[in-house]
Amino acid sequence: MPIRILDPGLVAQIAAGEVVERPASVVKELVENALDAGASRIEVEIEGGGRRRIRVADDGSGIPAAEVPLAFARHATSKLSSVEDLFRVTTLGFRGEALAAIAAVARVTCRTRAVGEDLGVELRIEGGRILAQRPLARPPGTEMIVEDLFFNTPARLKFLKGEGAERRQIDLWITRYALAYPHVHFVLRHNGREIFSLPAAREPRHRLAALYGAELADALLEVSEEADGVQVYGWISPPGIDRPDRQELVFFVNGRWVQDRMLPAAVLQAYHTLLPSGRYPWVFLWVKLPPEQVDVNVHPAKIEVRFRDPDGLFRAVQRAVHRALRESTPVPVFQAAEIPVRATEFPARPVPMPSEDLAGEPAEERASPGLPPLRVIGQIQARYIIAEGPDGLYLLDQHAAHERVLYEALQAQRQQGPLPAQPLLQPVLIDVLPEEMSLLEENRGLLEELGFRIEPFGPRTVRLQAVPAVLSAEAILSVFQDLLLDLQESRRPVEGALEAQLIRSICKRAAVKAGQVLSVEQMQHLVRALERCAMPWACPHGRPTILRFPIGQLARQFGREE
Ligand code: ADP
Ligand code: MG
Repeated sequence: MPIRILDPGLVAQIAAGEVVERPASVVKELVENALDAGASRIEVEIEGGGRRRIRVADDGSGIPAAEVPLAFARHATSKLSSVEDLFRVTTLGFRGEALAAIAAVARVTCRTRAVGEDLGVELRIEGGRILAQRPLARPPGTEMIVEDLFFNTPARLKFLKGEGAERRQIDLWITRYALAYPHVHFVLRHNGREIFSLPAAREPRHRLAALYGAELADALLEVSEEADGVQVYGWISPPGIDRPDRQELVFFVNGRWVQDRMLPAAVLQAYHTLLPSGRYPWVFLWVKLPPEQVDVNVHPAKIEVRFRDPDGLFRAVQRAVHRALRESTPVPVFQAAEIPVRATEFPARPVPMPSEDLAGEPAEERASPGLPPLRVIGQIQARYIIAEGPDGLYLLDQHAAHERVLYEALQAQRQQGPLPAQPLLQPVLIDVLPEEMSLLEENRGLLEELGFRIEPFGPRTVRLQAVPAVLSAEAILSVFQDLLLDLQESRRPVEGALEAQLIRSICKRAAVKAGQVLSVEQMQHLVRALERCAMPWACPHGRPTILRFPIGQLARQFGREE
């Protein structure tokens, strides 16, 4: 093919790809525009995960009637005028690309009236072509409606995830911006249902409480430090309140949510040795520094930034967090309340002890090739079972072993049908985040099959009506927490992977714990059950259930010739 210049429509679509990757990118850009326009109230309405329709309405400064078509031209912005400006950006937008990009790949209706003008404008633009423009009476502010995203780029449509995944991504952005701009009233609706309406908050902490619950907000430690023109403030969790992923390590740099590696690294270094391995804190930090010290023009969607003095900032953040931890961490409370799952009621249900009918026995006829018959000798540290076999001494981890037994039993039951459910006499109310609510709804069918009955109870609360029968009352909250995590991590599309993971979580919470004193009968029962497992050697998470000390080795180490 000879070299030729691409036609402008195609160029626009290619450029749009950088800015508008998915519905959440549209939401993000429109919300940023509303914030740049000084809005005090921003309404976001989503239909069909944003693919069908996105509406963002603000009460900001509006666009002057004469400039509306220009706003949709490429590289048209009111926020930059010279090269120097590029190095001291104080607005969220500045590239003048978003509206052009969105209009290139969707059907857009813009209604706006500038403050100080008498009449507004309605403009309709589709695939980059202006279809209609007419005067319109409306209050000052702007309303952008984006419909049928990627209608003219079918290839991009194929890259979109399901409605639920797109919706979660949108929720994440809105949640972040709602946090970053607590004085702005945010309203979020999905398919006509209000997810939240957050009136202007005086302090970020109040917004934090509105989004994450007062219990977490109250438990967080305040960070506040300023040196050399760099301000670091916000909230972090004390040791003892942690989470299993980095998802809530949240940073705003000059009002922009940024996802980079340096800031989390600085924070985690400050937490060094204070958190168990694989656990992460909750961190909400605002970093303010002179605009000329941050280059925001390194990423088309402006998610990454570059700092002029990254080492200095690293130290400042690390120091600020470290000081907050050192000075305000409370003495850890034994069996501190579980966060983020917040129960307002606990079910009154007896805690079943492992017994003759130790839950979940694999089928009798399945003899394991793996384990010899074992004679239980006793328990040490309320944690390990000592047993004798034909060829040596055996040590079992009671928790891991029970997990394995339960896992195989539940898997076998699942072959037959749904897992038995245990209705709760007193349903448990649990507050969840908007993304979590969507996840629970999406997976409702599977959860029911596993014995969970979970119903929405208000916009941010669910009611737990039944749990798998194998669980004890005290395990309910932790299993629910695991479940949310499993759902969040379940995006890998392996068939059946989510179910297996959920079952593993149920087993983890249902199994006898380390520290639980067992009777000889209970131990015998557990050992018998493990002997009958198909894969008795490891718990479902891959840790060993049983260790053997061969007789020969004992003899050698005792200096016996045998
Ligand atoms: P940028 O935000 O980088 O300037 P955009 O394409 O997002 O580029 O917007 C182009 C211009 O349209 C903005 O510079 C601003 O002047 C105007 N604009 C867009 N959205 C709004 C809004 N909600 N309120 C007021 N002005 C807006
Ligand atoms: Mg913009």
